[in-house]
Amino acid sequence: MVKAEGVHKSFGPVEVLKGIDLEVKPSEVFCLIGPSGSGKSTFLRCINHLEKVNAGRLYVDGELVGYRQKGDKLYELKDSEVALKRRDIGMVFQRFNLFPHMTATENVMEAPIQVKGVSKAQARERAAQLLERVGLADKAGNYPSQLSGGQQQRVAIARALAMDPKLMLFDEPTSALDPELVGDVLDVMRDLAESGMTMIVVTHEMGFAREVGDSLVFMDEGVVVESGNPRDVLTNPQQERTQSFLSKVL
Ligand code: ADP
Ligand code: MG
Repeated sequence: MVKAEGVHKSFGPVEVLKGIDLEVKPSEVFCLIGPSGSGKSTFLRCINHLEKVNAGRLYVDGELVGYRQKGDKLYELKDSEVALKRRDIGMVFQRFNLFPHMTATENVMEAPIQVKGVSKAQARERAAQLLERVGLADKAGNYPSQLSGGQQQRVAIARALAMDPKLMLFDEPTSALDPELVGDVLDVMRDLAESGMTMIVVTHEMGFAREVGDSLVFMDEGVVVESGNPRDVLTNPQQERTQSFLSKVL
């Protein structure tokens, strides 16, 4: 579903991704861990067309991200082409970014109506199903300010799912939450994983990575330091940098 081959990304003179190689298979829960500043968010943003890679190749579902290849040459995709591809990828951020002037239902309905031209009635029905799925059927009419952080994050997940993505990206989805609210969000993500969704999850929740993750990558300073089965990497890290990081977070 995602394949990175020597992906590089720089901001001006600063090289943030220094040759990332990895592969995410369909239906896999792929966890990405690493210290702050190691390039995790930048990598997700590259997958989601929010940043353009400078070198290497990045593929989503077999298609090159951001470029079209003709012979040996690469051509940048037009904004309209990028917009079409971004529809297929859902992203959930640390901060929930819900529209404050819209109810939970309206937040979930918005993109299918605006982007896909779905009818209001259909979008409303689907929003109700999705809010039920994330355990918020009784909060459908609430505005974000009337919801807890965990509830807002579950609305954000429902909103991403409303576009029927083939890939979901999570960037530290529980990091901004009070501890007692983390579990409900992780439960929704676990449920989503069991439904077969392909997920890339940047997280500090090592319990989630161990129990739900199929693969785990430890990234540091823009490179993949170590990867493998989450249980193996977390209990028996081979690289010193991984050991040092885990000793601080576990
Ligand atoms: P992580 O998510 O692992 O904490 P990030 O991908 O957010 O790391 O950031 C990696 C590095 O890239 C940081 O040093 C950050 O300051 C830098 N960076 C990220 N985005 C930009 C940007 N738009 N312009 C300049 N530097 C950036
Ligand atoms: Mg980040």
